[in-house]
Amino acid sequence: MGKILSGAQVAAAINQDTAARAADLRSRGVCPTLAILRVGDRPDDISYEKGAASLCAKLGVAVKRLPLPAAVSQAALLAQLRQAEQDPGIHGLLPLRPLPKPLDDQALAAALSPRLDVDGVTSASLMGVFANTQAGYAPCTAQAVLEILDHFGYQLAGKRVTVIGRSLVVGKPLAMMLLNRNATVTICHSRSVDLAAQARSSEILVAAAGQAALVDEDFVNPGQTVIDVGINFTPQGKLVGDVAFERVEPLVAALTPNPGGVGAVTASVLVRHVVEAAAKTLA
Ligand code: NDP
Repeated sequence: MGKILSGAQVAAAINQDTAARAADLRSRGVCPTLAILRVGDRPDDISYEKGAASLCAKLGVAVKRLPLPAAVSQAALLAQLRQAEQDPGIHGLLPLRPLPKPLDDQALAAALSPRLDVDGVTSASLMGVFANTQAGYAPCTAQAVLEILDHFGYQLAGKRVTVIGRSLVVGKPLAMMLLNRNATVTICHSRSVDLAAQARSSEILVAAAGQAALVDEDFVNPGQTVIDVGINFTPQGKLVGDVAFERVEPLVAALTPNPGGVGAVTASVLVRHVVEAAAKTLA
């Protein structure tokens, strides 16, 4: 049976540290504050906003909600962004994406100031990840994967890691972050040939494809660690990952549960980034 890499355990450790740092900042007159920009009323956006806001409240971080109607114009959206940027009391801004059509995610990312970019969406933040300069913040989900591996004591240097998925939100930045830690990284995608064999040949497998049960017994080997980033919903509305948990768990050394794995850590990373951004105002 694979060891369960509990995201809740990792999140608790991050949160404890974040709460202490937030309290210290507040005692010095800085109230770390996250603005959440939401366009429209998509249930998953509302649920993510609610989760992030409740964690912020628990850890001593203030939240400014910036809801906009789904029919907002691109110009009005960017104006809201500029207004938030001029507010020195805001230390991080999280735009909930993807934006409803026809709004342009890339234009939003291009307009966001790197100062507020606590989820690694701007080119400047991604450049920091790709160039390994540590400038800006990495995308929270990619960082959450590293937090889990670090928490459970994985040494990444020289490890063969396969990442399934190449989006700018998860797969690509995560692959670069693993490379920065001297892992030997293979990136797979929908055109990869013999995906199962690629996955099976790795010591650590990260699934970030958004395909329920993509990773099954053919993708894994004994001794392997499997990290499941995927969020998918069954027709009955149940959240499932990219890994067929029941079939994979008996075959591998360790794996994340889902829910309760990467998703449980992502919001903790976000709030920590806000506190770090707030601390920079004192430097
Ligand atoms: P995208 O849809 O943007 O990217 C999916 C990637 O997976 C693409 O690169 C795609 O390949 C690849 N892919 C899709 N199907 C297959 C397949 N059958 N075989 C191999 N590769 C495939 O998704 P994101 O990167 O934004 O997110 C990935 C997953 O992670 C989603 O389930 C998402 O909900 C979840 N997620 C979880 C978060 C968390 O906190 N836990 C936060 C953010 C996302 P190609 O490029 O060729 O199309």
